[in-house]
Amino acid sequence: MIPAEVVPPDALEEELHRLDVQIPLEGLSQALDAEPRFPRELFREMGAARLLGLTVPVELGGRGLPVSRAARLLYRLAFLGGTLPAKLALQPEFCSLLVALGDDEQRKGTLEPLMRGETLVGNQITEPSAGSDFRAIQATARRTDSGYRIEGTKSQAAFAADAETAIVLLRVPEEGTRALGSWLVPQELPGVVRRVVGDHGERWMRRGTVEYHSVDVPVSARLGGPGTALSHLRSELSRERALLAAIYLGVARRSWEETVEYVARRESFGVALSERQAVSFPLVEDWVRFESAWRQLEAVLAALETGAASDAATALIKWYSGEVALEALEHCVQFHGGMGYSRELPHERRLRDVRSARVAHGTAEIAHLIGARALWPRAPGQGKAQ
Ligand SMILES: Cc1cc2nc3c(=O)[nH]c(=O)nc-3n(C[C@H](O)[C@H](O)[C@H](O)COP(=O)(O)OP(=O)(O)OC[C@H]3O[C@@H](n4cnc5c(N)ncnc54)[C@H](O)[C@@H]3O)c2cc1C
Repeated sequence: MIPAEVVPPDALEEELHRLDVQIPLEGLSQALDAEPRFPRELFREMGAARLLGLTVPVELGGRGLPVSRAARLLYRLAFLGGTLPAKLALQPEFCSLLVALGDDEQRKGTLEPLMRGETLVGNQITEPSAGSDFRAIQATARRTDSGYRIEGTKSQAAFAADAETAIVLLRVPEEGTRALGSWLVPQELPGVVRRVVGDHGERWMRRGTVEYHSVDVPVSARLGGPGTALSHLRSELSRERALLAAIYLGVARRSWEETVEYVARRESFGVALSERQAVSFPLVEDWVRFESAWRQLEAVLAALETGAASDAATALIKWYSGEVALEALEHCVQFHGGMGYSRELPHERRLRDVRSARVAHGTAEIAHLIGARALWPRAPGQGKAQ
């Protein structure tokens, strides 16, 4: 018997199922892994169904849901179709600088089309020599007579090839040696050069490098005033990390349920695989870890809603949920034998997709640093990473 799902479906979740019937999500994920491209049609459908920006306020075109409710929906989306539809749904939350700092014109011109799934907006923070430590950013925005001139290179950016606009974090030398600001930069401007790098998983994101060679933008391209970008980024990271945790668990839970069924059917040496403890015990342990990670995540989400969640709690639940998911997915690949290793089945793709959990939105090591800082606030050498 398959154990009950961690999260039972409800009315709003039925909308996700309707979307899945209209555009079979798992099939799309598998197809875009083989031939990566941005899923414009799905993005537009999700915009029309108001499934983009689940926690974004209603007046800005989102659903305005509490973070715990959004996490359940993202879990379902990830269960249905992997990280692809779930991370698409989350994309406006990743554009939190635009949501929080955008003025009326920026909201009308960029946020509203994003919420409708008509315009893809990327985020560009990382640089070749500034990743976990984004205070080391070197790309600059310098004042000119008519606006700002942008110089430098951003790297590893999701949607490098496909975003119409990007939110770009830049150093502002005129405002101080450590000052950072953010700009909305159309990606078709003269001087913007984009290059895709091939990825291990989530290949539809077409991550890559974006070079800015004397790119001129007007004053109105700046998001927020001096000193606002970094504090917003830090506060939003916590919410993003908790929502990502739900996605990792949803993806892995699907493979795990499929594997629980499969090992009961598959026989070797005349006995079902599920009769072998070498196979059944790891799957039982995964079950316990899923339940435990979800319960911990629920507590973190509740704390986020009251403003009581610590940076350590959100960083560590993202890390832990990622590890729980990756370990379960390893078992799913393994217990499907040679077919598990093949691209005929979805498990190895899901494993590659969820592998980004250890790097994106704060690496596993940075999560540990944040945890260590919470345990030993004054410990020397911990730095101030993210
Ligand atoms: C799928 C995916 C999507 C991404 N999307 C975007 C995007 O849209 N926009 C964007 O700007 N970036 C994006 N990134 C980049 C991501 O934010 C960075 O990869 C991440 O911040 C780590 O930076 P880095 O790659 O420079 O690694 P580094 O910071 O160089 O780290 C390398 C290794 O050293 C470890 N390390 C670093 N510092 C410490 C320390 N103080 N103590 C212990 N260990 C340490 C890290 O944990 C890691 O294991 C994406 C990455 C992935 C994988």
